[in-house]
Amino acid sequence: MTTFTETEERQELRAAVRRLASKYGRDWFTEKARSGGKTTDLWLEIGKNGYLGINIPEQYGGGGGGIGDIAAVCEELSAQGCPLLLMVVSPAICGTIISRYGTEEQKQRWLPGLCDGTGTMAFAITEPDAGTNTHNITTTARRDGDGWVLNGRKIYISGVDEADNVLVVARAEDAKTGKLKPCLFVVPTDAPGLEAKAIAMEIVSPELQFQVFLDDVRLPADALVGDEDGGLVQLFAGLNPERIMAAAFSTGLARYALDKATAYAKERVVFKTPIGAHQAVAHPLAQSHIEIELARLMTQKAAALYDAGDDLGAGEAANMAKYAAAEAACDAADRAVQTHGGNGITQEYGMAGLLVATRAGRIAPVSREMILNFVSMHSLGLPKSY
Ligand SMILES: Cc1cc2nc3c(=O)[nH]c(=O)nc-3n(C[C@H](O)[C@H](O)[C@H](O)COP(=O)(O)OP(=O)(O)OC[C@H]3O[C@@H](n4cnc5c(N)ncnc54)[C@H](O)[C@@H]3O)c2cc1C
Repeated sequence: MTTFTETEERQELRAAVRRLASKYGRDWFTEKARSGGKTTDLWLEIGKNGYLGINIPEQYGGGGGGIGDIAAVCEELSAQGCPLLLMVVSPAICGTIISRYGTEEQKQRWLPGLCDGTGTMAFAITEPDAGTNTHNITTTARRDGDGWVLNGRKIYISGVDEADNVLVVARAEDAKTGKLKPCLFVVPTDAPGLEAKAIAMEIVSPELQFQVFLDDVRLPADALVGDEDGGLVQLFAGLNPERIMAAAFSTGLARYALDKATAYAKERVVFKTPIGAHQAVAHPLAQSHIEIELARLMTQKAAALYDAGDDLGAGEAANMAKYAAAEAACDAADRAVQTHGGNGITQEYGMAGLLVATRAGRIAPVSREMILNFVSMHSLGLPKSY
């Protein structure tokens, strides 16, 4: 029978993560961001409790659950004001790709660290010149004896300073056809020739973005994940989890913004009654409540399809969920600022910072325009526009 509520187990997971994250909370997160601190304590605690690797198979230190579980963890952390971008990257993108396509030795080597938080992995596909058009990436992997040499440049790579390795998408020459094909390499962040430079961003978050320069970075043969010819398929395997996680990240932030706005609207009195008694204040918040619930349902559907093994169905659902969640989050943050009046733009109330944080969800990991392109083409059968 189809049901529209999550299992009791999933609901308990949410409650447990909520309890854990509320010990840290938004003030802790903001203080870390403003003082150049890190979220390592929270990261390791969710790792120790088994939440970080909840989607990874049990034999590699994970919880044996699905994307629905790790998305629930990500959403609840966000909803407590502690959104962890690296959850999208390390366990969900890298963890999925390595679990599904890594060799047995690679799984044993890298997955336990992803699960307990001691071996975080960043993910690097975006390049300054290629941007959204990832088919145009120029980072190359050249064979060098048994191993590889990587050269290229990546941009907006999250958490390189906190990661032990980066899963880098590069292009290798096909020995038979001479054509360049995408391949995935695990590159240690301390590898000679790798340089990371932080990009000054306006997001209030301890998690930073980096330019990454790869200059003759030498890698052993087993740095190549899985099969040399399966790079594209492997890459696509990480995209649905990435979008589902990004959606969960956004809906969590939207819930956080709406909770704050609602509480403030109940308390703040300027014309005899609390401002929430005015429909001009209440209706936008009610609208956000509905939009967040829509986005959550779409995210849960996408996760359920993915966890049931329907990669194709999950593709459309994950894209649409990510779109809906980013829109809901941007609107919720904007309404939360407005509800707070002047306080909405003070650091004390921390609402204005949410504008940029939620706005990032419209751009990354895939922009709203590219999702609209996808839906136009694949859902509606309209001609390709680019
Ligand atoms: C906070 C943050 C964290 C990130 N973390 C990572 C990470 O860890 N790893 C990683 O690899 N990348 C990461 N990124 C990069 C992110 O995936 C890219 O920023 C995103 O894919 C957009 O690429 P771009 O910035 O080059 O924009 P561009 O490709 O230059 O696009 C600019 C604008 O043009 C629009 N546009 C482009 N082509 C079309 C078209 N055909 N039709 C309609 N509109 C179009 C886009 O939608 C966008 O609005 C991160 C980005 C941010 C902001």
